[in-house]
Amino acid sequence: MVFQDKLTGIANRRKFDEVLENEWQRCLRNHGHMSLILLDIDHFKGVNDRYGHQVGDDCLRSIAQTTQSLMTRPADLVARYGGEEIAVVLPDTDQEGALKIAERLRRSIEALKIPNQDNHEGNGIVTISAGVATAFSRVGGRIVMPEGLLMAVDRALYEAKHEGRNRVASSMLLMPATGGRPHG
Ligand code: GH3
Ligand code: MG
Ligand code: MG
Repeated sequence: MVFQDKLTGIANRRKFDEVLENEWQRCLRNHGHMSLILLDIDHFKGVNDRYGHQVGDDCLRSIAQTTQSLMTRPADLVARYGGEEIAVVLPDTDQEGALKIAERLRRSIEALKIPNQDNHEGNGIVTISAGVATAFSRVGGRIVMPEGLLMAVDRALYEAKHEGRNRVASSMLLMPATGGRPHG
C-alpha cells in the first residue's frame, strides 16, 4: 500500500522513482535502452471548475485505468507522477515503440469522450498531451541519469502543450555516460 496512489489505484511517485532508478541501472548493465512517457491532462482545471472536483477525480481515475489497461508487458510501470500527470516507464523500449504507445494512449483517452467544454483544443472533450523520451546507455556523455531522462520527458511534454495540446512530442535521444553518474 505504501507504493499505491490512493485516488487512482495505480503506483505512486515513490514507486515510480524506485522503478526508474532500478530500470536505468539494469539498462546500464545490459547496455540497453528504455523510454519514458509523461502525460498531462489538457485544461484539466476547467473540468474541476465547471463540473466539480468529484468529476475531476473520476476523470483522473478513468485516465489512470485506461493507461494501465493499455500496457502489455509486465515490466511496464504506470504511476501517478503529480496532480494530473501520469508517467509510464517502458524498459527495453525504443523511441518508435514508445511513440506508438503514447499515441495509442492519446487516442484511447480521447475515445472516452469525457466532457470538458473548456478544452477548445480538444473539441470539448478531455484530451491529454504527452512527452516521450528515450535513453541509451551506449555512448559516452555527461548527462546524469535518470534525472536527465526526466528533464527530457518534461521538455517534450512542454513542446506538446506549446504546439497546441492533444498531441505527442518526443525529445532527443539521450546518450549518457556508461557510469550514469559523475565520479566523486
Ligand atoms: P494544461 O493544459 O496547461 O495542462 O492546463 P491545466 O488546466 O490542466 O493545467 P494546470 O496546471 O493549470 O491545472 C492542473 C489542475 O489539475 C489544477 C488542479 O486543480 C487539478 N488537479 C490536480 N490534482 C488533482 C486531483 O487529485 N483531483 C482533481 N479533481 N483535480 C486535480
Ligand atoms: Mg499538470
Ligand atoms: Mg494539465
